[in-house]
Amino acid sequence: MLRLMHVHAHPDDESSKGAASTVKYVREGVDVHVVTCTGGERGSILNPKMERPDVLENITEVRRAEMDAARAILGVTQEWLGFVDSGWPEGDPKPPLPEGCFGLVDPEEAAEPLVRLIRAVRPHVLTTYDENGGYPHPDHIMCHRVSMVAFEAAGDPDRYPGTGEPWQPLKLYYQHGFNRPRSLAIHEAMLEAGLESPFEERLKQWKEDPEHDARITTRVPCGEYFEVRDQALIAHATQIDPDGFFFKAPLDLQRRVWPTEEFELVTSHVETSVPEDDLFAGVRELSDDEREAAGRAPRAR
Ligand SMILES: [Zn+2]
Repeated sequence: MLRLMHVHAHPDDESSKGAASTVKYVREGVDVHVVTCTGGERGSILNPKMERPDVLENITEVRRAEMDAARAILGVTQEWLGFVDSGWPEGDPKPPLPEGCFGLVDPEEAAEPLVRLIRAVRPHVLTTYDENGGYPHPDHIMCHRVSMVAFEAAGDPDRYPGTGEPWQPLKLYYQHGFNRPRSLAIHEAMLEAGLESPFEERLKQWKEDPEHDARITTRVPCGEYFEVRDQALIAHATQIDPDGFFFKAPLDLQRRVWPTEEFELVTSHVETSVPEDDLFAGVRELSDDEREAAGRAPRAR
């Protein structure tokens, strides 16, 4: 049995980033585990239809219920790490982060519950965000930092004693699903089809960064799961407007123009060669015994 763990900052990130690949792997029989660092307590309500007092007053419970629905749609298991959302700092200069929030934790300390989970779930592949968080939300950047500590430490018997038997995930990836070339390709295809593109303004503000785009190593074909991806995202009703820009591009067009989700292979403890089309390349080829032995081998520094 192959096991995949995605580490995300907020409830809804598992549905907006790499979700079609998640469904593909779930349907293949992979055990996919989502870790959600925060409860999303300070997320703004981004769907005008949900801006109601009863929702605002109970936002934590509401977001938990949304996550329950998304989890069922995606077919994953999911755990909360229990940290508190930092919120998106607005203003110039930006205000200080609220006391006790995830963005202010010590990554070494905050990695403990994640190390514990990695040692319990024993994923072969771990995904997180890049050093910029994918987008610079303080919780996304902290999610990266905590994931990096945990990936390095989980297989080391000397670190985080008392949190279970060491386990070394065999591959580490960054999520790169929101890349400019994808948005541009879909934008151009929509114009060609005579449709109004929701990407026009975004693309103007989004500077080209070929170096960043070149970091993509892995494109997972997952077009047939775009519908499920969208259903999971819509389940996070406070966070997404079902009539908003996210859903403007017809799925058939997306499948034709960009039927993959992108990742960056950061570390591999198995043999593989890039470009890849599978997060389990090099892992899948091992026998069950070899895979388990590779994860258990202590990698003390
Ligand atoms: Zn987020």
